[in-house]
Amino acid sequence: MDTLHYNAEVIEKIMINPDLMIIKVNTDEPKNKFEAGQHTLLGLFGFEKRSYNSAIESDPVDVDKLIKRPYSIASATSETRHLEFYISQVKSGQLTPRLFNLNIGDRVYVGTKISGIFRLDDTPDGTDIIMVATGTGIAPYISFLRSSIVERPESKMIVIQGAAHHRDLGYYSELTLLAETYANFFYVPTLTNPDGHWDGYQSSIEDLLKKDTLQNQFNITPDPERTRFFVSGKPDMVEHVSDWLQDFGYTRHHPEDPGEMYVEEF
Ligand SMILES: Cc1cc2nc3c(=O)[nH]c(=O)nc-3n(C[C@H](O)[C@H](O)[C@H](O)COP(=O)(O)OP(=O)(O)OC[C@H]3O[C@@H](n4cnc5c(N)ncnc54)[C@H](O)[C@@H]3O)c2cc1C
Repeated sequence: MDTLHYNAEVIEKIMINPDLMIIKVNTDEPKNKFEAGQHTLLGLFGFEKRSYNSAIESDPVDVDKLIKRPYSIASATSETRHLEFYISQVKSGQLTPRLFNLNIGDRVYVGTKISGIFRLDDTPDGTDIIMVATGTGIAPYISFLRSSIVERPESKMIVIQGAAHHRDLGYYSELTLLAETYANFFYVPTLTNPDGHWDGYQSSIEDLLKKDTLQNQFNITPDPERTRFFVSGKPDMVEHVSDWLQDFGYTRHHPEDPGEMYVEEF
């Protein structure tokens, strides 16, 4: 049981709700350079304790196994040691209940490689950027905005964030503040099950798009030449939005076959 594999320390933990958290780690060594939107591995050994509100592991893990999973980095690319992640607890999962049990000062493994093709840098200057997310799919956009919003004043940048309840909208305050600060940035949160006072959109992301909200509110018609779409989050939403975009001529981006629609499912 070799905790020498651990190479970072938890320096901040913010609970958005009991199953959603923002966690920040400080790595022992400076990290390699990364591009906004990329991901790296987090890991903990099987002997680590699970969170108080998790369930029995659906697939029990060996105590001496280092469990590793990829997570999108929410930090600005200028950060070399402080890496931030936005994580949803899968109650019967192997790693997330152990991550949710971490406290400030605890040690954790952070991958040495940072990779991924979900990158704002791949989009041509001047194109408008629409970022669509459910759940923790918002994390790469936080990195995009923290890293690059000032560099792209000529692009309209719009985040459409879908959730059931207001308490599930991680980064709401930061995104609201950015929208108040930058004339080219617009934040569109939409809830399917709002409780209490909510005067924002009330629908799924799919319905919001089909109702021409982008055209009516922001004068943006989906056009692969002029507007790039990022779609990140739950597989159902990703599939529906991708299908909708294909009808406008969008194709999925791959490094060897560039397209105008960037997709990340988790
Ligand atoms: C490129 C990439 C980036 C990612 N970035 C993030 C991120 O920023 N934040 C984040 O929270 N996750 C992210 N993920 C998902 C993450 O890697 C893990 O898959 C997730 O945290 C579950 O890990 P686990 O070990 O707890 O569950 P596992 O033990 O791996 O899974 C247990 C069971 O739950 C199912 N399951 C897995 N994920 C979910 C889910 N989300 N909801 C319901 N059931 C699920 C599995 O199919 C399996 O049957 C990313 C995945 C990829 C591929």
